[in-house]
Amino acid sequence: MARSINVRRKEVLPLVQEEVRRYRSRMIDEIRAGGNVWKLPGLEVRLAEAFGFCDGVQRAIEIAYATCHVMKGKRVWLIGEIIHNPEVNARLDALGMLHLPWNTDGQGYDHLTAEDVVIIPAFGVSVKLRRMLEERGVQLVDSTCGNVVKVWQRVRSYAQRGITSIIHGKARHEESMATASHSLGDDGRGRFLIIYNKEDAQVLADYIRHGGEKERFLARFAGCHSEGFNPDVDLAEIGMANQTTMLKGETARLQQMLREAVLERDGNDARFHAYDTICGATQDRQQALLNLLDTQPDTMFIIGGYNSSNTSHLAHISARRLPTFFVRDASCLESLQRVRAFDWTSKSEQPMALPPLAADKERTWRIGITAGASCPDNIVEGVVRRLADLRGILLK
Ligand code: SF4
Repeated sequence: MARSINVRRKEVLPLVQEEVRRYRSRMIDEIRAGGNVWKLPGLEVRLAEAFGFCDGVQRAIEIAYATCHVMKGKRVWLIGEIIHNPEVNARLDALGMLHLPWNTDGQGYDHLTAEDVVIIPAFGVSVKLRRMLEERGVQLVDSTCGNVVKVWQRVRSYAQRGITSIIHGKARHEESMATASHSLGDDGRGRFLIIYNKEDAQVLADYIRHGGEKERFLARFAGCHSEGFNPDVDLAEIGMANQTTMLKGETARLQQMLREAVLERDGNDARFHAYDTICGATQDRQQALLNLLDTQPDTMFIIGGYNSSNTSHLAHISARRLPTFFVRDASCLESLQRVRAFDWTSKSEQPMALPPLAADKERTWRIGITAGASCPDNIVEGVVRRLADLRGILLK
């Protein structure tokens, strides 16, 4: 049986605080205190009211650092990444953190013994993987965010009541995969289907309304449903939940589409259930971005890891309204003409041209900045400093 350990002990807290201090920024604190706007000669920096590290991420990082200190001398393994942030992950690697694959359901874990320490990341792990770790008797340190656990409770309760979980999320994201495993319930007989966007929801809504070709439906959702899923039976009663970092407006739209489909089929929506499981931090960051966009900055910079789901959503929201550049950190800002930013088409970082205003030093360039829940303030400071530097502004 695995032993769960509390690593956030009084004696290591000062060491942990020392580690996390590197992610703070006095400059960013001062901009926040000044109403989130910083007016410099020829450059106006507007920060969103809420951005950067959320409580769940902060806690996961503290747990990871504390584990490195408390378990010094032992092999400390992390399943996947603690969060989707390259700087944080590189620092943990430098402290000797070892890595286990997160998507193999336990393959590649044979070498673990009771002497090993294994950290579960903020997104959680599948039921099967956790069970396997428990059977191996490793020392488990669990940093799963409480908001993720709430989603699991929701889908487990659907399973108990014979309701099929419809999960709005990315089928290959760690969190959605863990949630899907919980939707099977205690007896493993629960059902799930993961949908990602409006097109998926439309196909599902059509099937709920009129039925269709089962094989075609299953091929359309290959890899996104529970084993043995039968849409002719398993869509009789459905309950929605979502990955905690999805777009709030989009989740609401998908819920509405499916509710209407059930209503049309049954004459009432008694066999449709919905529960908004987007976490508060994600909602706050999305709303703060919308407020910032309303102030009409000239150019937006969204900062964070490219594989971070909540940051990608911020970038999507912003790009619909203003020229937007989704960058990792200050090193992406090459000049006032050119940046390297995430390109949705090639799904990779690509060179991109900044608008001509960036290089026009006769006019004030008003930039809006936000960052995902896994992006620390020191990275945001780096971007602000780099932009000021490129505009020839001397900062302290
Ligand atoms: S984004 Fe939300 S669910 Fe994810 S770690 Fe932060 S608080 Fe938890």
